[in-house]
Amino acid sequence: MKRPSIVIAGAGPIGLTAALLLGSKDIRVTVLEADDKISDALRASTWHPPTLDMLAPYGITDRMLAAGLPCPNWQIRMHPSGDRAVFDLSVLEGETDHPYRLQYEQSKYGHLVLDALGTLSSVTIHFSTAVTGLRQSADTVTVQASSQDEEREFAADYVIGADGARSAVRKAIGVELSGDIYPETTILATTLFPFHERLEGLSNVSYCWKPTGTFSLLRLPGVWRASLYAREGQSIEQALTDEGLQDLLHDIIPEAGLIEVLESRPYRIHKRLASTYRQGRVFLAWGVPGWRCRASQQSVRRYGDEWRPA
Ligand SMILES: Cc1cc2nc3c(=O)[nH]c(=O)nc-3n(C[C@H](O)[C@H](O)[C@H](O)COP(=O)(O)OP(=O)(O)OC[C@H]3O[C@@H](n4cnc5c(N)ncnc54)[C@H](O)[C@@H]3O)c2cc1C
Repeated sequence: MKRPSIVIAGAGPIGLTAALLLGSKDIRVTVLEADDKISDALRASTWHPPTLDMLAPYGITDRMLAAGLPCPNWQIRMHPSGDRAVFDLSVLEGETDHPYRLQYEQSKYGHLVLDALGTLSSVTIHFSTAVTGLRQSADTVTVQASSQDEEREFAADYVIGADGARSAVRKAIGVELSGDIYPETTILATTLFPFHERLEGLSNVSYCWKPTGTFSLLRLPGVWRASLYAREGQSIEQALTDEGLQDLLHDIIPEAGLIEVLESRPYRIHKRLASTYRQGRVFLAWGVPGWRCRASQQSVRRYGDEWRPA
């Protein structure tokens, strides 16, 4: 039987993972990535049990565990009282081989998978090659791409558009997104500050409510990541200044003194769906942020003097 061939647009976590799973089945895979390398940007950091189970047969999970930080429980916490609901993931024992969340940076995951793909002769990656369009017939798809000013075409049996939120593949098949963007801008700030030594019983993943809003604390090996929100009346630009970041961090630990911020980044959370995820031989796939908890955090409402999730 002829081995099918697949073109994957995008070498983000979804495109790389799809390449790993398909390439490991000896399916011929060509990955086209617009950028000249995989992204090292500050982005996601939490891995859930089913993903760890899925990646285990490929040797990826063991490597992530060796460098990541297991998180046997996570919590929703009132601040500053410390009242909390703790979700103990050990209850999943028997259901999963990995009954915990793992804290491990998305960018490091990309490099791990890229290494693994290097051992698969069935997978080829072209960097600096941006998909610009495609056409499909009953039995093939031809992907057009622009590579260092050269126009190229790649033929495949199937195409996976894993090229992110502004997907060229999605646009090429005329699929629209519907939905919204949450109004809040999240400010992600990474710091060496030891929140776990200052907030009693803090989990490595903690979603917190305080009288004036919310924040989250996610721990990675050696660092904490705080997700913060500008104060009322404060612009994002002001909140992102050194002084603004200190203010937001001092809203959590007022007596902390100078809290060194290693890296910060603002972003907004989209909740959008495509009208279809398959059209003929073309599939769409993209990472859905694990934000359900965070998203509900956005919708806290004030009830008298109390803040509660809406
Ligand atoms: C600051 C920040 C924090 C986040 N934190 C979390 C978190 O804690 N938990 C969580 O679950 N999620 C989080 N997310 C979301 C998470 O990063 C995304 O869900 C994830 O990156 C999506 O993966 P993807 O592979 O679908 O797309 P992407 O990571 O966007 O990758 C798409 C790839 O396609 C490439 N590309 C784009 N256009 C083309 C083209 N025309 N041709 C070829 N290649 C193309 C891009 O260069 C990119 O490499 C966060 C995001 C940000 C920005």
